[in-house]
Amino acid sequence: MNILVCVKAVPVTAQVETDGQFRLRRDGVKLQWNIADESALEAALQLKGSGAVTVLTMGPAKLEEPLRELLARGADRAVLLSDPVLAGADTYATAKTLAAAIKKLGSFDLILCGAQAIDGETGQVPGMLAGALEMACVTGCEDLRLTDGVVRLERRLERGSAVLSVKLPAVVSLRAYSYALRLPGILGMRRAKQAQVEILTAEMLGLTPESCGLKGSLTAVVATKTQFPGLRSCEKQTDAALGAKNLLAMCREVGL
Ligand code: FAD
Repeated sequence: MNILVCVKAVPVTAQVETDGQFRLRRDGVKLQWNIADESALEAALQLKGSGAVTVLTMGPAKLEEPLRELLARGADRAVLLSDPVLAGADTYATAKTLAAAIKKLGSFDLILCGAQAIDGETGQVPGMLAGALEMACVTGCEDLRLTDGVVRLERRLERGSAVLSVKLPAVVSLRAYSYALRLPGILGMRRAKQAQVEILTAEMLGLTPESCGLKGSLTAVVATKTQFPGLRSCEKQTDAALGAKNLLAMCREVGL
């Protein structure tokens, strides 16, 4: 089975920092591979059989070395889609560009993604990618198996789970932590050292600067607010005595 896995470099946050696959600084921010994308890669490696696994990322040129790390972990081919004109892409422009790259790279039975990137957090790219490639799409999977030539996928629901089959080729997204990505082996590290990371630019995909990146995006972020995990801004200040009095009144109100 020929599988392509879309991997995104995301900022390291306190909640997801793991054993340190790679640490790069993008404008002072440390980066690592999105955890759900690591799950997608492991699922691909378990499923590929005699086929091959290609990893594809759209991001800055300095992702070449971190991609090599994924080759050391078992991927057969690594592709970096990097071009200044791709910067500022929203989900539409990202999916459109990834789809153009996938079409150029060959034919794949399965395209695997993470269910959600921890920075953009839209979860829109896999669905949009499936639309652009005119493929079936199953999102948020936790288990992926090949039985008698049929891919079976398990999705967790609020109460229980559902098992689906899907016609190939298809785009499937995997939940974070559904699979634990294997460690690099010595042979893998040796192979990765000599391997070539393929670089693609917008021009190589036939994309004009107007049709991709910021210019080709349909949405724009107009403002962002920073909120630290576990903290909320305090809307009303009160002293301990008044707080205790209010608490007592609330307890009386509910009959305590
Ligand atoms: P999700 O849909 O949550 O990602 C799901 C999966 O898709 C990932 O796990 C991965 O498998 C795959 N995937 C997603 N992105 C990539 C990628 N780049 N390469 C390979 N696989 C990928 N960013 C900027 O830097 N500048 C901007 O101006 C900017 N504007 C934005 C405007 C809007 C309205 C939005 C929603 C996002 C914007 N972004 C911008 C963020 C960035 O473009 C998004 O991170 C990107 O579009 C992917 O969306 P997401 O992170 O929500 O991915």
